[in-house]
Amino acid sequence: MKVKKVMYTKQGYSYIKCKREDCLDWGGLAKCDSCNEDMIDNVFLIYILGQAFCQECFEKWEQRAKRYTEDIKLQEENDERWYRAYGFKVS
Ligand SMILES: [Zn+2]
Repeated sequence: MKVKKVMYTKQGYSYIKCKREDCLDWGGLAKCDSCNEDMIDNVFLIYILGQAFCQECFEKWEQRAKRYTEDIKLQEENDERWYRAYGFKVS
């Protein structure tokens, strides 16, 4: 299992930055869940959305996302397990 550092958006939402190859490893199609384009390089795996975005869509989402306290609470309880299901041990 790969060890990854969890990162946080300005709203406090966790995500993992990984690669196209990682998508294929977990059985994904390496397509962005937002724009449906092929992921070329960086892939952003976002717990609170339950989705994987390309860099462009990730940046757009971060710009417009709102912080909800109940989402952050849910995230604290569940995100490690969710990332683990994709093959990442988070630190
Ligand atoms: Zn996209």
